[in-house]
Amino acid sequence: MANSFVGRDMAVDLGTANTLVYVRGKGILVDEPSVVAVQSASGELVAVGHEAKQMVGRTPDEIETIRPLKDGVIADFETCEQMLRYFIRQVHRRRYFAKPRLVICVPSGITAVETRAVKEAGYQAGARNVYIVEEPMAAAIGAGLPVHLPTGNMVVDVGGGTTEVAVISLGGVVTSLSVTTAGDDVDNAIVAWMKKEHALLLGDRTAEEVKMSLGSAWPTSDETEAEIRGRDLVSGLPRTVTVSAADVRHAIEEPLHGIIDAVRATLDQTPPELAGDIMDRGIVLTGGGALLRGLDERLRHETSMPVHVADSPLTSVALGAGRCVEEFDALRAVLVSERRRR
Ligand code: ADP
Ligand code: MG
Repeated sequence: MANSFVGRDMAVDLGTANTLVYVRGKGILVDEPSVVAVQSASGELVAVGHEAKQMVGRTPDEIETIRPLKDGVIADFETCEQMLRYFIRQVHRRRYFAKPRLVICVPSGITAVETRAVKEAGYQAGARNVYIVEEPMAAAIGAGLPVHLPTGNMVVDVGGGTTEVAVISLGGVVTSLSVTTAGDDVDNAIVAWMKKEHALLLGDRTAEEVKMSLGSAWPTSDETEAEIRGRDLVSGLPRTVTVSAADVRHAIEEPLHGIIDAVRATLDQTPPELAGDIMDRGIVLTGGGALLRGLDERLRHETSMPVHVADSPLTSVALGAGRCVEEFDALRAVLVSERRRR
């Protein structure tokens, strides 16, 4: 009886920046960066998740850090599969490994070939059945939107590699857009700006920290500044530069535009009745990028729509995919119909 395995059914939010594993009846048990460190020569696993992310930009030649998902697609299938298997094993470490039902969340812009690759990785990791749920749908469910009602809900999920914008009604995605402008591009824009304005080279980790501590999409009342450490492009020596919140806002303008344009383009494509619903109900922001200060305010100004940040934007997708395993039969309709295996 399938029900005897209920405790092991899982949902995975396979994100470009973070992977979360939700276990039926237990909640989110794994929440780690989607980063893997391997021996360059042998490809042997050195570290996964937090430990591997610590190593980014700090590895000797023999070790390489890999982000298997780039721009919302699987850039390195083998490593992706290893990572997925590692995270699933973590959850099952001390137990009899029953073959679970697995719901995996993928970016909606993903191709059929990539979807098959994700499912294959799920089967390789030991799943009995793998189901796919589109990321915006999971995000909307996780953010508590009434996806089954005949009313338009817009969800904007700003992740590391992709921004997903979707309008959902009656349990289905009506209009959606997936663009590869997201959190990573914001980090890259900070790196580029520091190089151009201050001839200072920043590592990716530092750029992300600057974004989190100082970044904003709209002026706030408590603007601060911070000292940023990098390597001088000319002398090659470490140097510190003082940068203001306004500087960083200016630096990230281009990727912010990309994100805003995606929202506007989707609103443009939305049938009038549903656009009216969104005017009433507002846009919901999820994904780690939703935590960028003032992004909600900025979108409010740019779209004239009400905008809300989900309660816990980094976990919305995993919680939504988790709901799909908890209420499998009720939510089965939102799962992408089973494509033929192989
Ligand atoms: P993915 O689904 O692609 O794995 P996530 O939803 O986990 O992405 O979000 C990761 C992105 O969110 C990263 O680009 C990260 O830098 C960004 N992020 C996380 N916290 C913050 C914050 N406080 N401010 C701005 N960006 C943030
Ligand atoms: Mg995500």
